[in-house]
Amino acid sequence: MKVLFVTSEIAPLIKTGGLADVSGALPAALRAIGVDVRVLVPGYPQVLAQIASNEVLATFSDLPGFPPSRLLFSTLHNGVPLMVIDCPVLYQREGGPYADAYGHDWSDNPLRFGLLCRVASILGCGGTPLSWHPDLVHGNDWQAGLTGAYLSVAKEAAPNIITIHNLAFQGNFDSENVALLHLPPESFAIDGIEFYGKMSFLKGGLYYAKHITTVSPNYAREIQHVELGFGMQGLLQARSRDITGILNGIDTDEWDPETDKHLAFHFSSQRMVGKAKNKRALQEQMGLQVQADVPLLAVVSRLTHQKGLDLLLEIVPRLLDIPVQLVVLGSGEKQMQDEALALAARYPDKVAAMIVFDEGLSHQIEAAADMFIMPSRFEPCGLNQFYSQRYGTPPVVHSTGGLADSVVDCTPQTLRDGTASGFVFSGMTADNLYAAIMRAVMVYCNEAQWKQLRKLCMNKDFSWETSARAYRRVYLKALGRAVEFAQD
Ligand code: ADP
Repeated sequence: MKVLFVTSEIAPLIKTGGLADVSGALPAALRAIGVDVRVLVPGYPQVLAQIASNEVLATFSDLPGFPPSRLLFSTLHNGVPLMVIDCPVLYQREGGPYADAYGHDWSDNPLRFGLLCRVASILGCGGTPLSWHPDLVHGNDWQAGLTGAYLSVAKEAAPNIITIHNLAFQGNFDSENVALLHLPPESFAIDGIEFYGKMSFLKGGLYYAKHITTVSPNYAREIQHVELGFGMQGLLQARSRDITGILNGIDTDEWDPETDKHLAFHFSSQRMVGKAKNKRALQEQMGLQVQADVPLLAVVSRLTHQKGLDLLLEIVPRLLDIPVQLVVLGSGEKQMQDEALALAARYPDKVAAMIVFDEGLSHQIEAAADMFIMPSRFEPCGLNQFYSQRYGTPPVVHSTGGLADSVVDCTPQTLRDGTASGFVFSGMTADNLYAAIMRAVMVYCNEAQWKQLRKLCMNKDFSWETSARAYRRVYLKALGRAVEFAQD
């Protein structure tokens, strides 16, 4: 089975969030179970600078509406074949994949990601210039959402599926883009890419896809209701039978406390002394009081309303009545950044805040901290709760989306039956978060229980293999190979 995997970011080449982690790991896991996956990404400078070869697979000099581009071929460090769209006019610029250095979205994003979808549709139909013909096109998030609309009028089009990593990001733009992107005019309809008078990449993706997946089973249910449906709940309800939630795995090579290249001290569930050394090193580096037995709380996150960190910042003064420390690594909304920095200035030996995106530091924090705080208002899957468990840092999470699917609340019962893996609170209030953190601190103070909880966390299996098999079942279903689907 041949699959074209279309994504706007891929670790380790370019990353703003969890989509990159998934794109960096899932294709390799699929290849390991016999699926011939190739990845298609835009040629941002960060990508072009890191790919080994510049073999040109094809040139697209006269795609109506788009500047000329070339398709380059390379192979990722994990053996996954990569196809890169080199289009300097659209991608060669300083800044992030979606926005400039000041956080303003690129005004030509419709064109930038329209080209990604257009090229995906060319490679996924009979007219492809390549000898490699995918059986299926797998798009991710809104940036790949128009692929199905283009394929709907292509000859010998492969079926396409879409994975929602976050329904809140939809790629909605003015309707004039329908003509500018040379989309089929009839696609601008309620049964198509139209969404409240605008054209929507994601709506198109959800409408035209043969099958829809989300990155956790719980999120697949939540988005069919008004609270977390972001206006798409009607369409999602109508397509309910075609939606499957598949929990993300993690890259267990990248995130392995025994071998992590970002760590000065390695450790395992059998030998935890390295973790204590990492804690000491981080406390020193961040200017916190060096204290082995004070619980160190951590956050690594985009600082946005979604992540619910306003609740944490609100309760910090209250939390500091007991001996705890907090380290925050993140960037995002200015007000939240400023509040985190203000707390760090007010309590310099107890709170540290770093407003940057720093992959290495995120690993060091996971390794050093005692507890990881994720009070997300909604969370399609979330990754840090997995990393935290693997690094013996029980997460404190709000019961939503993938967090509810992947963290089991620590109680005497779950400790006994060996399922406990963190602390879960319901009801999105500062008081409820505070109570959950206090529960975690109570268990921390009971050395035997804390050791047991950490061990349970670290021994859980988060590899991609199970998820890759679930994706393969979805592929088979989308291809109508139901017999194999039933047997797999
Ligand atoms: P989302 O994709 O919504 O941002 P996820 O939990 O799915 O959230 O994935 C976030 C990823 O980005 C994780 O790998 C996390 O460690 C990483 N990350 C977020 N903020 C930072 C930061 N400031 N520095 C380093 N890594 C970060």
